[in-house]
Amino acid sequence: MYNNQDTICAISTPIGEGGISIVRLSGEKTFSIMKTVYHGKGNIDEYSGHTLHRGQIVDPKFGEIDDVMIGIFRAPHSYTGEDLIEINSHGGKLITQKIIDLLISSGARIAEPGEFTKRAFLNGKIDLTQAEAIADMISAKSDVALKFSLKSLNGEYGNYITKYHKELMDLCGLIELELDFVEDDVQFVKREDLLKKINDVISEIDTMIQSFNLGKLFKDGIKIVLVGKPNVGKSTILNGLLMSERAIVSEIPGTTRDFIEDTFTYKGLLFRLIDTAGIRITDDFIEKEGMERTKKQIKEADVVVYIFDLTQEYEEGDIDFYKTDITNSLKCNRKVIGIFNKCDLFDTDIDIIDTFNKEKLRLIFDKNNVIKLSATNKDDIEKLRDKFVDIVSDFNSMEYNRVVTNIRHRDSLKKARASLLKSIEAISLGESSEFISVHFRGALNALGEITGSVTNDDILNNIFSNFCIGK
Ligand code: GDP
Repeated sequence: MYNNQDTICAISTPIGEGGISIVRLSGEKTFSIMKTVYHGKGNIDEYSGHTLHRGQIVDPKFGEIDDVMIGIFRAPHSYTGEDLIEINSHGGKLITQKIIDLLISSGARIAEPGEFTKRAFLNGKIDLTQAEAIADMISAKSDVALKFSLKSLNGEYGNYITKYHKELMDLCGLIELELDFVEDDVQFVKREDLLKKINDVISEIDTMIQSFNLGKLFKDGIKIVLVGKPNVGKSTILNGLLMSERAIVSEIPGTTRDFIEDTFTYKGLLFRLIDTAGIRITDDFIEKEGMERTKKQIKEADVVVYIFDLTQEYEEGDIDFYKTDITNSLKCNRKVIGIFNKCDLFDTDIDIIDTFNKEKLRLIFDKNNVIKLSATNKDDIEKLRDKFVDIVSDFNSMEYNRVVTNIRHRDSLKKARASLLKSIEAISLGESSEFISVHFRGALNALGEITGSVTNDDILNNIFSNFCIGK
């Protein structure tokens, strides 16, 4: 059972050595506990909120632990909405641990993961979308991911949900009012108006549900898988994109037998790059296993980059393999790019892809998504990076405050949509207000779960257990 009567403490900065560390203390006994461990000028009970004070943390048995600055926050004007003190100590593992031990022996208890933020939610400082946005901001790895979480943190995303929640709530109120006048058979809201409104909300919900794929892509990173026969230059391209010598580049075919994964950010987007084992028919068990892993990576990719070496010959069998694989990728909505590599080895006057089998290969691709390049040329690699941004740009037209990045929200939107469809059915069958209102309530509950106006212990525990201690 959750108990917010306790005063909680935790180290809120990363554990380790650093310039400073911050220990947070929050709850009813914050000031009485601090009084017993803090020695500073004046009376701590008289310190105003939003002020900083210098003093010492003193353990009765050990003596002085550290010279600190303490930040004073008085309820309700604090992160948690409770009395809260932030102790800025010198950043050392032992110092912070000793401060925590002292606070615990003075009456505080160690905070659960996410408990400061949970208290902020329970005290009405933030809604659930904002609480989740705090975790997202902390883990954001690209500008776009940060922008999404900021839109949620400042409440724009939650307000958007609340707007529809309120509209449905008003309609639900009118429908339920009709229940008081059953004998008079009155309708406070015309059924055709009601249907129009419900359909409008469903269409908004649909847009949000569809945006989830985009949201996930931008939050978790765009997964790009490099595929091609051994020695076509996959590792060289990977190293060029990462600007490091991450993969071993070798003239011996089959050097990358497993796959290598790394990330890079470009123009505010996060890309997850995977260099796979080369595709080739082989009896070597390890290479066969590598091929299977390549196929699995392709299935999970957002963008598949098929790389060809202009100096290599391609058999009909190769071309059939790529045709099948590329068609499958396109069917599954994966973006596909074809790269013809090592063009530096050709005289530029010769049309380097004009030979029979390479022309066939080229035709597999949409001509806008074929690039001739040299992996060893920095400008070419830059163009490839731009191509990646370009190819995902059609995803980029959404308004940030309407993009769903959280699977919990997506599932609640689906529940709301299902209830609204049932309400349409009930209206179409001419059912009484009582039945229509049941489905409205279902939709309201589902939308309320997103912002937290409707919640239960399971939902909260699920969300906050994923936070770190001290948050
Ligand atoms: P992978 O097996 O597909 O990962 O291929 P690697 O990246 O290991 O490259 C195989 C060989 O091709 C290495 O000797 C590279 O230096 C060479 N190579 C890769 N890209 C180019 C290129 O654009 N031009 C030239 N001339 N050589 C390249």
